[in-house]
Amino acid sequence: MSHNLFETFAAKMHERAEADFITTRDGRRYCYTDALAISAQLAGALTELGVKQGDRVAVQVDKSPEAILLYLACLRIGGVYLPLNTGYTGDEIRYFLNDAEPALFVCRPKLLNEAQALAAETGCPAVATLDSAGDGSLMETARTAVPREDIVELGERDLAAILYTSGTTGRSKGAMLTHKNLASNAETLVTAWHFSADDRLIHALPIFHTHGLFVACNVTLMAGASMLFLPKFDADVIFEELPRGSVMMGVPTFYTRLVQDERLTTDVTANMRLFVSGSAPLTAETHEAFEAKTGHAILERYGMTETNMNLSNPYEGARRAGTVGMPLPGVEMRITNRETGDEVPLGEIGMLQIRGPNVFIGYWRMPEKTREELLDDGFFITGDLAMVDEQGYVHIVGRDKDLVISGGYNVYPKEVEQVIDELDQVAESAVIGLPHPDFGEGVTAVVVRQQGALENQLNEDKVISHLDGRLAKYKQPKRVFFVDELPRNTMGKVQKNELRKQFNDTYR
Ligand code: ATP
Ligand code: MG
Repeated sequence: MSHNLFETFAAKMHERAEADFITTRDGRRYCYTDALAISAQLAGALTELGVKQGDRVAVQVDKSPEAILLYLACLRIGGVYLPLNTGYTGDEIRYFLNDAEPALFVCRPKLLNEAQALAAETGCPAVATLDSAGDGSLMETARTAVPREDIVELGERDLAAILYTSGTTGRSKGAMLTHKNLASNAETLVTAWHFSADDRLIHALPIFHTHGLFVACNVTLMAGASMLFLPKFDADVIFEELPRGSVMMGVPTFYTRLVQDERLTTDVTANMRLFVSGSAPLTAETHEAFEAKTGHAILERYGMTETNMNLSNPYEGARRAGTVGMPLPGVEMRITNRETGDEVPLGEIGMLQIRGPNVFIGYWRMPEKTREELLDDGFFITGDLAMVDEQGYVHIVGRDKDLVISGGYNVYPKEVEQVIDELDQVAESAVIGLPHPDFGEGVTAVVVRQQGALENQLNEDKVISHLDGRLAKYKQPKRVFFVDELPRNTMGKVQKNELRKQFNDTYR
């Protein structure tokens, strides 16, 4: 039996032939028959450009339906799709090209010269271009190349993609994902989230990350559903499209912006059946405000580049604010003590580990890192701290790397942030540990004031006196700083390492 994920997609694509696969607001439309034909043409182009089974295809392009057809073309011929964040600059691209040694680099036409120079320098043999309108040398080659209608036979461990992690905690690592990993997760999610061919997904996420690429697109393909591709999140456009959509997947910032908008009502969301949130924690306040305004409880789930999706709130049953639900079918979870590695009793915080067919096979060319994080018994150490409550819902408490150890005591930043966020004039906060001569690390809060809040309404003393009596002394920040906004990456994740750098010398 071949494990090529495209086999599964192709069956659905034939069945849904004339139905929409991807549409755009400027009137482009690809039905499933188009997707079959163009992915075959693109597979022909890849072959002509020298890409063979197992070769990496590095892709740094603006969002377009054609980029997804290129992903499908890679699957067809057993190429390894390697999408790159469009925000990466020359130096970063050099690192990825050196690391991944792709056979082809697909770039934006406007950056062709730079891309060619980088390709020459790193020994990447071919470069092609693709822009957001689907123009560029790649599609030109596809038009004249001999189409490849075949679907290469693949084994259990053959790679579908190398996806670099978001680099929130350090240098991005290339996660090697097999066809089997992606297939199992997409199947699981279709069932868990009740996807069907009738669904129309409003797609406003980037497609170089697991959320917008695999969760959104693989689930759509597996269900034979359709997607509206939007270049980015724009609230005006979302409100126009909600009445024609059935599902939206978003990062928490989408939802915090929507709930602040008076256009968010029961009426405008009446056609929608599901809102999904992930990639970063959704605050309980946003969850509750969204439900109050629309009647929809956002379904929060937890996943990562290395594993796709692991935990999800239930489709039927209570979706609980501030939690990420329970393991998806086929996914196993355990929570272990940071020091001893033993499983912790229910209700205690520990390291979250995951095992299942969704878990990647290792980091690209990082055997040591792989050995450290992917254990012999198949469990993967996620690097996140979590706790299971009495109802079996999992709470993500933060990243292990963000845990503050002050005077020998563990301080979980989220616990402190939640209490700071109770203050009316606080928009959001981040609690970090900074080198401290006496305590090892000093608990430190970085706070963003609510718009219009004045310095005399919210200052360091106010924050500290609010915490006094609500949190044990050792958890209280020794200093509170105010900033205009927290540093975030494209997925909306707060980059605490940037904050640690910025305030590093506070206690020295
Ligand atoms: P890097 O591994 O390079 O530091 P990263 O971990 O941010 O970057 P991703 O794989 O994109 O890279 O993100 C996975 C992480 O995102 C998880 O480990 C977790 O910390 C966070 N995350 C995802 N979904 C949720 C969620 N619903 N709630 C809280 N955190 C989440
Ligand atoms: Mg990570």
